[in-house]
Amino acid sequence: MSWLRRLLPFSKHEGMIDIEGRSVCYVIKKNSQSRRIRAAISSDEIIRVTMPTSMKIEEGIFFLQKNQEWVLRAFNQQNIRPHIALPLDAPSRKYHRIARKIVLKKILQFNDFYHFPYASVRIKDMRTRWGSCSKIGNLNFNYKLQFLPLHLVDYIVVHELCHLQELNHGKEFWHLVSQCIPDGTARRKELREINVR
Ligand SMILES: [Zn+2]
Repeated sequence: MSWLRRLLPFSKHEGMIDIEGRSVCYVIKKNSQSRRIRAAISSDEIIRVTMPTSMKIEEGIFFLQKNQEWVLRAFNQQNIRPHIALPLDAPSRKYHRIARKIVLKKILQFNDFYHFPYASVRIKDMRTRWGSCSKIGNLNFNYKLQFLPLHLVDYIVVHELCHLQELNHGKEFWHLVSQCIPDGTARRKELREINVR
């Protein structure tokens, strides 16, 4: 197969790069029209590197590593939110199990204070939310919360627990939250800065 490899050189490569604690997705593509290597961040928050066909993919990765500062600046200018680093094999039952364990422990801890009755606890793969609470007291949590810092997990669990009492986000609701999480609004803001993907 080696002759085939030589005839059809790798023309596209995808991966993740860690830049100051932030996981960033990249795609490196060779282009016969391209005269020099260049990078741009697209609206789907992926760094796209285009380079001449004569260059090696490794040079593209090296280019990103060398230009980390530029990447960070470009991200900040686009006001792009940081991603939580997800393992490549997610979502799987293993991660649902781990999330369930964390959530149940936190519910036990905080509901020792609130004593709100609930119907069920489910772990789900949610696209845009960290948790939800239904009218009949079903609590749902995003399996991805296990990859968040613990103070944010606390906030998510307390938030949903308080919905058992107050379904809206009114004054009473925030008062309930503040009894366990006094800086709830700050944590809420921090959470909004993080992308769930
Ligand atoms: Zn809510």
